[in-house]
Amino acid sequence: MANRLRHIRCCGLLCLVALAVIPAPPLKAQNPEFDLLIKGGHLLDPKNGINAVMDVAVSGGKVALVASSIANARAREVADAGGMYVTPGLIDIHAHVFWGHDGESQYSDGYSAIQPDSHSFRAGQTTLVDVGGAGWRSFPKFKEQVIDRSQTRVLSFLNIVGSGMRGGPVEQNLSDMDAKLTAMRIRQHPGLIVGVKVAHYNGPEWDPVTRAVTAGRETNVPVMIDFGGHTPPLSLEDLLLKHLRPGDILTHTYAHVGGRVPIVDDNGKLRPFVQEARKRGIIFDAGHGGGSFLFRQAVPAMAQGFHPDVISTDLHIGSQNSGMKDILNTMSKFLNLGMPLADVIKANTSRAAEVIKRPDLGHLGVGAEADIAVLSIRRGKFGFVDSGGGKLMGDQKLECELTVKGGRVVWDLNGISRPLWTEQKKGS
Ligand SMILES: [Zn+2]
Repeated sequence: MANRLRHIRCCGLLCLVALAVIPAPPLKAQNPEFDLLIKGGHLLDPKNGINAVMDVAVSGGKVALVASSIANARAREVADAGGMYVTPGLIDIHAHVFWGHDGESQYSDGYSAIQPDSHSFRAGQTTLVDVGGAGWRSFPKFKEQVIDRSQTRVLSFLNIVGSGMRGGPVEQNLSDMDAKLTAMRIRQHPGLIVGVKVAHYNGPEWDPVTRAVTAGRETNVPVMIDFGGHTPPLSLEDLLLKHLRPGDILTHTYAHVGGRVPIVDDNGKLRPFVQEARKRGIIFDAGHGGGSFLFRQAVPAMAQGFHPDVISTDLHIGSQNSGMKDILNTMSKFLNLGMPLADVIKANTSRAAEVIKRPDLGHLGVGAEADIAVLSIRRGKFGFVDSGGGKLMGDQKLECELTVKGGRVVWDLNGISRPLWTEQKKGS
């Protein structure tokens, strides 16, 4: 079956049609040792150094066994992943999921944010990090309304603005940017609040950055900066070389927005201080979004070897319905720009986990939470659109076949974990 599938999957669009009609074997053991066995897939687990065809067995919500061959009879359910890639569940370190119904509020209990489970699993994501939706004041509501009600693991970078990312004058209020209170809230929720966010401030002061870094230093979490729009403009070089610490994050790496110099200059050259910043440990995040990823920047930067550390979406209502679409479409852009598949997967699994200081996530070692994505690569002719409306043609595109969260199948595009209906027991 595995070889047959692998062969069929080389035929582009046709392969999906073929997959839909090839029966997955309905295998059920009498006394199963494992809840789920993902069989015959090519495992990419960068943290554990695995890049080979391996079976993965899950029990009690954890990874129970990874081996070259595990018998079907040992598992209650078997998912046939032949010809596909098995990876840790994807982590998106820049999303906006503090959704709600406050008409005056954009990404903080507002209509511009996304309900996490409505988007995550179909794109192989098991962890979404909301960046800046909530501040120290609004975090309890975010937790109650979104984090505690989502099957997706939702983590948070607190906005340095106490009221969060509500848009308009609220985000310009320096008197609501309090390092001490932000740090206090972070200490109340270790591992759940994993960073501090600065965004959208238009003034000439460095205060939002310095206060966020102070809060980050006190609590040992990174700061993520959405830079630009300052009047007069602040220096990107000073931000990266003087204000941020190693491990802090610049998002929207490949943007060209008002008030911020782009990383590639008018002659197509990567600015030397950007490389210098990478050497001192600054993290560069794609943060695609609705207005922050241009091929005019990304193509020359990638050609000069400047790959992103992390490939996030900047997910919100606008970006998911324009060029960004989802994390797999965004990762596919980098794949088509020459970033090796193993590096693309690493960026959004073990590297992302490292950046947010959650090393328990982003890998499939035995005992790890069984958050798993099964991905296929479609071959054909695909168009990828950037945030300026420009298109890049490519020949490969990632697609999510199966997502497992905490050992449970939460997305199964073509039913690879399901028996044929004709072979189901009555009442099941
Ligand atoms: Zn954003």
